[in-house]
Amino acid sequence: MSVEKVETLIVGGGQAGLAMSEHLSNCGEAHLILERHQIAQRWRSERWDSLVANGPAWHDRFPSLEFSNVGPDAFAPKEEVADYFVAYAKHITAPIRCGVEVMEVQKNVNRPGFRVETSKGVIEATNLVAATGPFQRPVIPPVIPDITGITQIHSNAYRNPDQLPEGAVLVIGAGSSGTQIADELLRAGRRVYLSVGPHDRPPRSYRGRDFVWWLGVLGKWDVEAATQGMEHVTISVSGARGGHTVDFRRLAGQGMMLVGRTESFKDGVVHFSPDLANNIEQGDANYLSVLNEADAYISRNGLNFPKEPDARIIDPDPLCMSDPVLELNLSKAGVTSIIWATGFALDYNWLKVDAFDKGGKPKHKRGISTEPGIYFLGLPWQTRRGSSFIWGVWHDAKYLADHISKQRMYLEYRTCAERTAAE
Ligand SMILES: Cc1cc2nc3c(=O)[nH]c(=O)nc-3n(C[C@H](O)[C@H](O)[C@H](O)COP(=O)(O)OP(=O)(O)OC[C@H]3O[C@@H](n4cnc5c(N)ncnc54)[C@H](O)[C@@H]3O)c2cc1C
Repeated sequence: MSVEKVETLIVGGGQAGLAMSEHLSNCGEAHLILERHQIAQRWRSERWDSLVANGPAWHDRFPSLEFSNVGPDAFAPKEEVADYFVAYAKHITAPIRCGVEVMEVQKNVNRPGFRVETSKGVIEATNLVAATGPFQRPVIPPVIPDITGITQIHSNAYRNPDQLPEGAVLVIGAGSSGTQIADELLRAGRRVYLSVGPHDRPPRSYRGRDFVWWLGVLGKWDVEAATQGMEHVTISVSGARGGHTVDFRRLAGQGMMLVGRTESFKDGVVHFSPDLANNIEQGDANYLSVLNEADAYISRNGLNFPKEPDARIIDPDPLCMSDPVLELNLSKAGVTSIIWATGFALDYNWLKVDAFDKGGKPKHKRGISTEPGIYFLGLPWQTRRGSSFIWGVWHDAKYLADHISKQRMYLEYRTCAERTAAE
């Protein structure tokens, strides 16, 4: 039986897979994308109903196509983001097969290329790009055991407030997901406890420009590695309700009970670290530092942007900062749900090649793995802060396509003598 052969196989038909396809096409490189579900599936089925993009539509898109139903300064609802990538696949005539899962990849023995077992048969590929996402497997730290009467879910399984049993909710993790979900639950009339760890919280906008613009002109999307000791600092931003700055002091003023990092659980009681005030102060310092850098940029470039002195007002410490709650008896507090907004891990179990360290992390340089012919795309911090976002993955894909194209040229080279002998 003949086996299908593909020059470059892209696994995953999300934004990363499509960006890769566009750049490979531009380089004239033959390729195929396999997607186990549908294009940009995670935007449809692994995110909550009211989610909108964190960045405005002029920024959170690929360069050659605008959103058709969302204004450039608006925040695209998640279904529009998914529809955008479906339209994008058509726009670039991406060679994609949906409903095909890659089950296992092995390196060929004593010859280049890879044997790829899929749910619809075997494919041989010279190169393989793993574009299966930066956020693959939800992570729930083993802190609180299963408790009767308490629903525990990860943020990727949260849809809307009505899905949860009546009662108070403890949301653990105050990055963009945790904060937006906690805010939505508070607005739906729930009693909400939000466990806040270290975070950055840039201003949604300042002096007439969205923070995505400021991070761009200040070179912060291009920062190549998280500062040492700051690897676990999450970023808290929101495009909800037209976009607003995440401000924990204001959330506390609206009735949200803020607590420090969740540390342990014993006899029905959750214990929190006494770090809430410090985390909020550090977040404020990060916020103010962006304003300072923005002001310096404006004066250095002589820009006539409107002044915004009110942006520097920091509300007084709420009671939960000055007199922090360090433990919470879940049943006494009426908590019936816990939402873990605690991030994701990578999962490359299907990729049986020598491209991982002992902890299962990809070994690579800018996405080019230690196993020749294997590439990664869309990893957090793959080349820079922006790598796992819509904006950044497009640029990383360009680099990989260029590398794949150059390698093919080398491998196709034959000396004159070899060519003559072959004729
Ligand atoms: C809640 C949330 C909000 C976000 N908001 C924004 C935002 O506003 N702006 C922004 O720029 N970024 C945002 N991101 C970050 C990032 O843009 C998304 O995570 C995005 O989905 C990543 O795209 P991707 O193509 O790299 O991976 P994914 O979207 O995860 O796509 C990978 C695809 O691979 C497929 N796949 C996996 N394994 C296999 C296999 N073995 N065989 C075949 N197919 C497979 C999956 O079905 C999936 O469709 C957000 C992330 C989250 C979690």
